[in-house]
Amino acid sequence: MGRYLGSVCKLCRREGAKLVLKGRRCATKCPIDKKSKKPGQHGANMRIKQSEYAVRLREKQKAKRIASLNEAQFYHYFVKASAMKGLSGLNLIKLLAMRLDSVVYLLGMAPSRSAARQFITHGHFHLNDKRTKVPGRIVAVGDKIKIFGKMSQNQNIPAFQGEVSPPVWLAYDKNSQTGNVVAEPLKEQTPYAGINEQFIVELYSK
Ligand code: SF4
Repeated sequence: MGRYLGSVCKLCRREGAKLVLKGRRCATKCPIDKKSKKPGQHGANMRIKQSEYAVRLREKQKAKRIASLNEAQFYHYFVKASAMKGLSGLNLIKLLAMRLDSVVYLLGMAPSRSAARQFITHGHFHLNDKRTKVPGRIVAVGDKIKIFGKMSQNQNIPAFQGEVSPPVWLAYDKNSQTGNVVAEPLKEQTPYAGINEQFIVELYSK
């Protein structure tokens, strides 16, 4: 399955929203802040009125792009969320936010979600004192995440510089260089706060 290697800013411009796909670098020089037009030849004239289907599709695309997943992976999470107790949309957001790569990024243990994924697949993280190379692992309350090996000396890690304040459901201990999952996240405490999850459920339920 191919990975998207093009410009990620183009994806934000397509959605007309700041999806923060470059992590900390999005704080500077963001084309969305300059109100740039949508990408493509007809970007400037793109139709404003969207069909109901298009509105739902765009909402799904936004969530999928924030999570940096392809369609098959994203749909897999939807199926998993639907099989869980409770509201499928909120379950989906919880699952996406509790992926290991997402948690590592939110803890500031990597400068962006893609960097987090790379660090994990290269084996730089321990989850509950065991090495893991699976960025899609869903963490649970009480889990401990720690950088180990050479990476623990890397001064470019935002958390080491004390520059990140993780959301309230996560905690980072600078002395032990360990992140903890202290609670399950509410939607507002995740990067998906602006997503209408019900639209995603409706799109897939057709
Ligand atoms: Fe690019 Fe980040 Fe701005 Fe998105 S939010 S357009 S990825 S700089």
